[in-house]
Amino acid sequence: MTNRAEAVVNLSAIKANVALLKAKAGVDLLAVVKADAYGHGLVPVAKAALEGGATWLGVALLEEAIALRSAGITAPILAWLIPPGSDFKSAVDHDIDIAVSSLIALHEVSAVKGAKRPRVHLEVDTGMTRGGFLSEWDQIDLQDIRDIEIVGIFSHFARADEPGQAQNLEQLNRFKKMVANLESFGYNNLIRHLSNSAATLVDHASAFDMVRTGIAIYGLSPDVKTLGTSEKLSLKPAMTLRAKLHLVKEVPAGSPVGYGATEVTKVDTKLGLVAMGYADGIPRIAKNAGIFVDGKRAPIIGRVSMDQFVVDLGASSKAQSGDWVIVFGPGDSGEYTADDWGSASGSINYEIVTRIGPRVNRIYEL
Ligand SMILES: *Cc1c(COP(=O)(O)O)cnc(C)c1O
Repeated sequence: MTNRAEAVVNLSAIKANVALLKAKAGVDLLAVVKADAYGHGLVPVAKAALEGGATWLGVALLEEAIALRSAGITAPILAWLIPPGSDFKSAVDHDIDIAVSSLIALHEVSAVKGAKRPRVHLEVDTGMTRGGFLSEWDQIDLQDIRDIEIVGIFSHFARADEPGQAQNLEQLNRFKKMVANLESFGYNNLIRHLSNSAATLVDHASAFDMVRTGIAIYGLSPDVKTLGTSEKLSLKPAMTLRAKLHLVKEVPAGSPVGYGATEVTKVDTKLGLVAMGYADGIPRIAKNAGIFVDGKRAPIIGRVSMDQFVVDLGASSKAQSGDWVIVFGPGDSGEYTADDWGSASGSINYEIVTRIGPRVNRIYEL
């Protein structure tokens, strides 16, 4: 593989973030490692999270869960987006806990025959109106599910990153009701889980038996505006994205840059060509982001291309062709952050890290 772009992932930061969040929650922590651990790398992150004190792993897809088992990970794993028609037997054989949110899926899972009983977490819709049982909740026939083990019940917040929002309390209350409803049928010792990262950080009343933390274990704030930056939350951003300057060149004032000539150099300057583009997850529409080199920020100029983008280094820059630059990092040295890239592209830090493409090598630091 060529040496032109790397995502350096600091595994000690992941461990420290998990330990901090677990201490805050005061209950078990499920580390959410879906989508290749938010772009950070599934297996190394899962191992680091377990070392940091996570006791569960959570993924969306069955294949993500099986990849963890294939890597020798034996911790409990919950997968919550296995659609009807999937190979539920394979989930059961791999000791993967299955989230169920429809009668169809419940019937398919309870029909799995084998040495082990399927382990199920019932997902309930408490007001996000996305996943989870809603109208079918009262139609679950407990006779039908004798052959499965109901391990847990869970739901998901829509607005946990807005502390004080009335919807949070409504969701919490509905969750309590649905838990009580299930318990009234003799299902006790359920693992009840509701909180995501934002709720774990600000809402103790929703912790129940386990929290499911994603973005915060990567050291990123669920919402910089409402909850503050990583630094304020004592989280350590784990990923630093570096790329090579393919080329540095002097250009005169008045030079149109890139496709569509959307920007023109205002003065004589040096431009740097960075060897990453939208195929690697650099948002094409990013404005007011860029790179960090030679002790300062150099903003994007012109449109981001598929494999490359151009930055304005400034006439006095000492950066040279072949130098490494930081696209984003924790921000300690003045470099742009994933938060900056998120707001520069009308998006969020989640999308920035998750979309770093497969052409970018992941490098791990202990
Ligand atoms: C992605 C996800 C999480 C983690 O959310 P964060 O905001 O990243 O902490 C938790 N639970 C479910 C069901 C999810 O899909």
